[in-house]
Amino acid sequence: MARVIMKNVVKKFGDNIVLDNINIDIGDKELVVFVGPSGCGKSTAMRCVAGLEEVTSGKVWIGERVVNTIPPKDRDIAMVFQNYALYPHMDVFDNIAFGIRARKIPVDKNIPDSKLRKYSKKEVREKVMEATRILQIENLHKRKPTELSGGQMQRVAMGRAIVREPQVFLMDEPLSNLDAKLRTHMRTELKRLQIDLGVTTIYVTHDQAEAMTLGDRIAVMYDGVFQQIGAPEEVYDNPVNKFVAGFIGSPPMNFIPGHLDLKDGPSFITEAFNLGIPETMAKSVKDQASSMDDLILGIRPEDIEDKDFALKQHEEATIQAEVLVRENYGSDIFLNLQASETLFNARVNTGTKARVGDTVDLILDIDRIHIFDGKTENNLTIKLPQ
Ligand code: ADP
Ligand code: MG
Repeated sequence: MARVIMKNVVKKFGDNIVLDNINIDIGDKELVVFVGPSGCGKSTAMRCVAGLEEVTSGKVWIGERVVNTIPPKDRDIAMVFQNYALYPHMDVFDNIAFGIRARKIPVDKNIPDSKLRKYSKKEVREKVMEATRILQIENLHKRKPTELSGGQMQRVAMGRAIVREPQVFLMDEPLSNLDAKLRTHMRTELKRLQIDLGVTTIYVTHDQAEAMTLGDRIAVMYDGVFQQIGAPEEVYDNPVNKFVAGFIGSPPMNFIPGHLDLKDGPSFITEAFNLGIPETMAKSVKDQASSMDDLILGIRPEDIEDKDFALKQHEEATIQAEVLVRENYGSDIFLNLQASETLFNARVNTGTKARVGDTVDLILDIDRIHIFDGKTENNLTIKLPQ
């Protein structure tokens, strides 16, 4: 049973502020994904929990303990990295058993300061058997790492973490070395495993799709700051700023600059089109914007539909654009479009008749647009949960 809390954590390397006052409270058994572009501080944040980096200021809790001064080996954590670092001369069984053979455990867990003992040979064997059974690699005990595939090596690395029975798993891009198909497969397995084992987990990745599919919550990091922490759907539907909006989702949200005109019904004016928008949205923008003349419209490709297939027929949200590229994914069709000087993407119904060179009528789902402040880049139209 362990919560992990980071409170006002700052980490500097020399003058370089890598973590700029981060706060997060991770629940027992929860899987939280730290996601963000390379270099934003994800690994450093995890390493502060692991104890591999000392925090410059702030506090880290694991379970009931503040662990700031506790060395990594006593933090009751297990780590899995991108680089599995298996011992090449040991077979699978020994690689997994290695970490617990030398480990000292209390003779009686329930007595504080109980005497310490080692696991018996039998206990080690049982633990390794159990882990390899869960990971479906029981038949590989005698293999050396060079005789394993990438996916199998990844499972052995997981096995080493599992036998430790830690309070917390810390995983830093553990699937990055696998090819795309295996990565998707292992992601599903990892999620199932984490649910079965019920161990609090922090998972670091730069891959937004991995974050969306794995996380109970995702913590989107940029420039040493958690920009937003929330359930995947919450972050996807209500990104707090332009960075989060653009980082989560693929292909990314379209951003189109413009301004708001409040005469005769509010409209968002871009160089390419005018869009009628709801009064409540206009009010929210008016109340918060640095300037009504410096705004950015955000709309996801799937919220732009070929007019022939749109469920909501808003006249005020109909625009025309020329098809530059048409990509058929089987399940959807992606259109790369141009209206005046503005380029954007739409993900439309496969029934679309639109072909390259055609000018098509498109409908924007007006309830799913966002308007960002051009200066602060904050989302001015966020719908906070009631
Ligand atoms: P991420 O995991 O998000 O890619 P990191 O946490 O590894 O990012 O790195 C964040 C920043 O901290 C980078 O600018 C990196 O160069 C810097 N950094 C990381 N570790 C050290 C270190 N030991 N010494 C100096 N700078 C470091
Ligand atoms: Mg990293």
